[in-house]
Amino acid sequence: MELNTITPNDIEISHKTDVKLECGICHSEIVSSASIYQKGFNFGVVCKHCYENNSPDDLELMANLFLAYGGYFGKIKNPYFSLYDMLETIVKKVENKENVEELHIKYMHHALLNGITPKQFIQGLRILLE
Ligand SMILES: [Zn+2]
Repeated sequence: MELNTITPNDIEISHKTDVKLECGICHSEIVSSASIYQKGFNFGVVCKHCYENNSPDDLELMANLFLAYGGYFGKIKNPYFSLYDMLETIVKKVENKENVEELHIKYMHHALLNGITPKQFIQGLRILLE
């Protein structure tokens, strides 16, 4: 899966029409043309930071979750947010052989809102399941 870089012409158009370019994942403003990426027609542009810190599959997952449930990466600044508590709940349910698919999606979305990447989420879950 490859991400396509937008040609400079596309960026010129957006400047002329005075449209602010915003990252489709974290909503930060994109100021440098070098940091603009687009994947297919599914979601808009992705800033350099999000592009470099997430795999194409993770970017797609994030875009889909924000499309389905709203919000954006790092929207919530909750100092009491605990990824560990969330993952522990999932692990307990897995141990009780409960279906965690729905909860997993819900928690993943919540983690994204709190600035946790899919990679960090999965890594944390793997550690707790070992
Ligand atoms: Zn971003």
